[in-house]
Amino acid sequence: MRVLKFGGSSLSDAERFLRAAEIIANNAQQENTAVVLSAPGKTTNKLVAVIETALAQGAVEPAVQELQASFAALSSAIAEQLPTIDLSEYHAQVTQSLDQLGKFVSGIRLLGMCPNNVNARIISKGERISIQLMRAVLRAKGHAVNLIDPVEYLLAHGDHLEAMVDVDASTQRFAQNPLPDNHVHIMPGFTAGNEDGELVTLGRNGSDYSAAILAACLRAECCEIWTDVDGVFNCDPRLVEDARLLKSLSYQEAMELSYFGASVLHPKTIAPIARFYIPCLIKNSFNPQGAGTLIGQDTGEDKLAIKGITTLNKLTMVNVSGPGMKGMVGMASRVFGAMSAAGVSIVLITQSSSEYSISFCIEAQDKVRAKQALCDAFELELKENLLEPVEFLDNVAIVTLVGDGMRTSRGVASRFFSSLAEVNVNVVAIAQGSSERAISAVIPEDKISESVKACHENLFNSKYFLDLFVVGVGGVGAELVDQVYRQQSKLAERGIVIRVCGLANSKGVLLDGAGLPLEHWRDRMQGASETFSLANLSALVQRNHIINPVLVDCTSSEAIASQYADFLAAGFHVVTPNKKANTASMSYYHQLRDVARQSRRKLMYETTVGAGLPVIENMQNLIAAGDELERFIGILSGSLSYIFGKLDEGMTLSEATLIAKQNGFTEPDPRDDLSGLDVARKLLILAREAGMALELDDVVIEKALPPGFDDSGSVDEFMARLPEADAYFKQLAEDAAEQGKVLRYVGEIDNGKCRVSIAAVDEDDPMFKIKNGENALAFYSRYYNPIPLVLRGYGAGTQVTAAGVFSDVMRTLGWKLGM
Ligand code: ADP
Ligand code: ASP
Ligand code: MG
Repeated sequence: MRVLKFGGSSLSDAERFLRAAEIIANNAQQENTAVVLSAPGKTTNKLVAVIETALAQGAVEPAVQELQASFAALSSAIAEQLPTIDLSEYHAQVTQSLDQLGKFVSGIRLLGMCPNNVNARIISKGERISIQLMRAVLRAKGHAVNLIDPVEYLLAHGDHLEAMVDVDASTQRFAQNPLPDNHVHIMPGFTAGNEDGELVTLGRNGSDYSAAILAACLRAECCEIWTDVDGVFNCDPRLVEDARLLKSLSYQEAMELSYFGASVLHPKTIAPIARFYIPCLIKNSFNPQGAGTLIGQDTGEDKLAIKGITTLNKLTMVNVSGPGMKGMVGMASRVFGAMSAAGVSIVLITQSSSEYSISFCIEAQDKVRAKQALCDAFELELKENLLEPVEFLDNVAIVTLVGDGMRTSRGVASRFFSSLAEVNVNVVAIAQGSSERAISAVIPEDKISESVKACHENLFNSKYFLDLFVVGVGGVGAELVDQVYRQQSKLAERGIVIRVCGLANSKGVLLDGAGLPLEHWRDRMQGASETFSLANLSALVQRNHIINPVLVDCTSSEAIASQYADFLAAGFHVVTPNKKANTASMSYYHQLRDVARQSRRKLMYETTVGAGLPVIENMQNLIAAGDELERFIGILSGSLSYIFGKLDEGMTLSEATLIAKQNGFTEPDPRDDLSGLDVARKLLILAREAGMALELDDVVIEKALPPGFDDSGSVDEFMARLPEADAYFKQLAEDAAEQGKVLRYVGEIDNGKCRVSIAAVDEDDPMFKIKNGENALAFYSRYYNPIPLVLRGYGAGTQVTAAGVFSDVMRTLGWKLGM
């Protein structure tokens, strides 16, 4: 015998209903089959809503009519596909159910209350309707069908709405009253009968439990739960897009997962099947070919230490504490006794080792009852100040890791908590079961999504997501977006998903939490409208629960640079070739680093000096290893490297500048280069990196123009005037050449002083050969002396700079990529 259970989602419309019937029919051809059905779609929710409306004396008619219409639509759509179907018993069931519902509603209105036995009868109506329809469908397909009445067969104890079934007693009933052979047996889920023969329900979502009980009573070979997903995933697939399907789970793992929130299976399901070692298969009725997830005696094929991450929400944490609790025997039993008497179920407990406090989580809906029960139970202690007023922390949730293998693997808890810290989650409490099969953290409810995503990324070797917001999509920014677009599929092979969620220029912003399509992004940019702001971006990040947002600032704007601290504090990594932030005041410089540390975000600016050359990283490594910078000399400007190189060849300054400008080597306004300010900024960044507390004003600048040269007016006016500087440079170059030297525009750090100037260097100098846009940086340090560490290479250009920015973006993932 096999038991097949179909959930509401598998019965919500004609197509799905018929698909379920098909699966049943196929199975029945091969072996004895018993079926448990849930109510179609959201029927039970609607019935619950009817009760609530009646209690509030509201109008229930619209909801009842909607139910009636949905049952009619379901059956008539099925009849279209199966013209021979006989729906008379189904229609009779619908009419009778709705008539009775009407009568119950009048009673509820009159009484102003709904007793649990009536409540149970109302909310279980959907299941009765499902079985009538399934019987009609299967009969039309030529099958003999037997209906099992759970009130008759399944003996239950306890509350009318949360009953537990006595499997042994129920098994005997099946033995006394055997099911007929050669029939497909169909039982409505969710219900059983109590000692008085009254209908009781098994708790919301209890049809899974019905199936497990039926499987246990019939000692079935297998219990199959057919639902709307491919099986049990390691996370709720609604929260994590790359959630992984689990091939297999042990009974205990399945129990913990479902208890802590994996709603694909009701927690009560496991015990009856585990008792008789009945395997349970979770399958997708939309994809019957899929293998599904097998729940059995051991952890099975999936040898993962951690099987899943689950969440429970809508909880309140209760904290009972006070000096009177220390060593007081029976305190815990009184607290939990009070909760049990008040019918409040406890989801998780922690106790501090000082015995000073007990904290536990309850469902938020039970808070008022819990409060009253604790006040009553500890009236005296509260009055005598032996206990502090009981604290209630609302809107909390529990995130839990589950896996049999956690017992034997190290570092799981540490990765769990560092993942939570990474998304700035404040852990309120922790609990680990002694089985070491589950470890839970109580967190603020609004952080569920981020927490699960971060844990999934870090604990499952799954995909890493990087979500970029690129500001400034002219030169470097545009090239970066193109490079990202080209690289996306390569990175995906390595499990890195890089999405551009925002593009901004001075005219507007394009935003999309799921990632903007990058094809033709330039055209799309025409439609950008919203304005760029931290508030806009933050709202999007929060709405989409993005866990690795990266602000990439490719502007040279001071206004944006001044907001980095706010972006870092709001959880963004910041990657930038913009030199303005690192050359603002020393106090802002420190603030940025402090904020980044506190919010565990990265500030990356490798491309601010030497474009794509690995300058900053090398320096940081040297300093970290205890080296000290003694002297630095370098050519830090690609455009000035080009211009001064051309002077060696006899070209004039104005000619060289014009060519450099035409080739895009200079800034749009070449004065930005010739003024020396850009080089001064780079030099200051290096000096600060070496630990010097200097301001931009401390850098002595000799412009790459004759002293007193008039550099006012428009770009064109300036360029027209530039030939007046040629004679000065010609003379300088000739003087230098006479001594076997060439002119170079260098930045120098010596003795704690920074200077940017025109220097004549001889053949032995590392700068001698540097021209044509090349950069060179010579670091003389404690360890690199007298021969310096020299970095040289192409130090300008949008491609290398964008590639450098790209690699900084990748490095925000840090240790996750083994960096
Ligand atoms: P049914 O109507 O078949 O009983 P449910 O809605 O009760 O279906 O359960 C299936 C749903 O459980 C899935 O659609 C999925 O969104 C949710 N779910 C939550 N956690 C998990 C998980 N870890 N694995 C699979 N599904 C999960
Ligand atoms: N129909 C019931 C409910 O929605 C039982 C179930 O679907 O499992 O709670
Ligand atoms: Mg369910």
